[in-house]
Amino acid sequence: MTGAGPLGLQTYPAGWRNCNVFYMTAQLSPDTADTFDLTHPATGARVGTYPVHTAADVARVVAQARAAQQWWADLGYVERRRRLMRWTSWLAKHSDEICALGNAETGKPKGDVQFELLAGLEDIRWAAKNAERVLQRRRVFPGAALANFEATLEYLPLGVAGVIAPWNFPMYTPLCGMAYALAAGNAVVLKPSEFSSATGVYAVESFRRANPDAPAGLVGWVTGFGETGHALCTAGVDKIAFTGSVPTGRKVMAACSQTLTPVLLELGGKDATIVAEDADLDAATASVTWGGFWHAGQACVGVERVYVVEAVREAFLARITERVSRLTVGLDDSCDYGPMTLPGQIDVVRRHVAEALDRGATALVGGLDSIKAPYIHPIVLVDVPEDCAAVQEETFGPVVVINTVRDVDAAVERANATSFGLASSVFSADHGPQIADRLRAGGTTINSVMTFVGIPALPFGGVGDSGFGRFHGDDGLREFSRPKATTRKKFSMGQDMQAFPRTKQQYPIVRRVLRLKFSRRG
Ligand code: NAD
Repeated sequence: MTGAGPLGLQTYPAGWRNCNVFYMTAQLSPDTADTFDLTHPATGARVGTYPVHTAADVARVVAQARAAQQWWADLGYVERRRRLMRWTSWLAKHSDEICALGNAETGKPKGDVQFELLAGLEDIRWAAKNAERVLQRRRVFPGAALANFEATLEYLPLGVAGVIAPWNFPMYTPLCGMAYALAAGNAVVLKPSEFSSATGVYAVESFRRANPDAPAGLVGWVTGFGETGHALCTAGVDKIAFTGSVPTGRKVMAACSQTLTPVLLELGGKDATIVAEDADLDAATASVTWGGFWHAGQACVGVERVYVVEAVREAFLARITERVSRLTVGLDDSCDYGPMTLPGQIDVVRRHVAEALDRGATALVGGLDSIKAPYIHPIVLVDVPEDCAAVQEETFGPVVVINTVRDVDAAVERANATSFGLASSVFSADHGPQIADRLRAGGTTINSVMTFVGIPALPFGGVGDSGFGRFHGDDGLREFSRPKATTRKKFSMGQDMQAFPRTKQQYPIVRRVLRLKFSRRG
């Protein structure tokens, strides 16, 4: 059976007529029967059909990855880096195909997919170039008492990392998880979202295409629903890097607790932006408009809440109304954003907006009429009670709440008053760093929004319900490694505290050393 698909696939095996992805017999048990269709959220056009992998399939893919991992680890930093750079070059050459696929799958404009790809490429390159510096064996000072020992620290690969990805950044999240795990010497098994499996599978296959000499199982993928993700959590992998919602994050952590598998959780957010009295209001409105409505607000980091100081409230509201009203929504690539990817999310947005309006909020732009599934036109709500879902819960749609505060202190207090803590931003000409320091979030941007996410040297992750653990930066590489401490005795110092018999002099000598070393204050 033949057909055209991503990566130039032309031949499908019998029984998999509709799969438009690479088929890997080794990844499927003979009895894998179920499939699911992936469709465009607005047109309903079928993008592909994918297997629902069973626990047995998952176990097989993990076993293959484990068998291949040592080959990858043994290559060492330089060779791994070479192969990771080959991967970036392959991806760059196929960027048009990737943008078209991401657009077909999620309905987001090709420019947004391109943005994701660019960020993913930056991550792969950074991880490849910095892994040796961060993880290589190094000597540490053993302390005066053990000066006869050499002490070394090294960060070793964990083995197999399971990466579970959401649908909203279908290319970026897989690339990012794979980049740090692979650079640290691990094999990877990816479980993409059931709503974005085409791009996720493509991400894995692209590595194989760029590195045909690598053992086939080094990077693997499994597709399906929550059960497939659960199977990956309990398959004996050495780490689960999960990106997704808070409720699923809880389930992942519970499942991983059974095998004591460590987890990295990148969860939701309710990012706040503070607009201080001395803010550049044009810059603030431009950034809030982009951060709030980019990708129809379906972004973990973005702008869901704005706290504007009352002295500049009217000027800010006038500017934001003007900007947001100009946004265009639709399928055309020139549009600012496209459809909602998940039908269920539209109900969440409707509930949040309806409750806020019922409780006395004002719709500055749009309102309930803006919800025309699968599209939601921009909605800006002002003066929303702080205990409304639109302020406390992740809306994950093109809705921005703007509340007025008397001063920056009140803004900080409210910004910190949700259970989330992913990103935040502040606009202030003179006090940005001081305000940023007081915000409880994994990252804060001053006089712009979200830019720290695009700097691979900076750690990315959240606090509170936004999760824990980090992608990116030195921390992101260490996340996929285990620290190994080694000591080597170089010579004997006579008084050996770790040997019998205990001599009579030992106690008074150690007493003297102890007092000399620790009795002074400061
Ligand atoms: P989700 O939690 O519904 O699903 C995420 C992934 O988990 C999917 O692949 C899904 O199949 C899988 N899954 C479902 N049940 C599972 C289970 N029991 N065990 C293991 N895996 C399971 O999230 P989503 O709707 O795909 O993504 C949107 C959410 O992701 C939002 O909350 C968003 O804020 C968050 N997100 C966070 C970040 C970040 O970096 N912090 C980035 C992107 C998205």
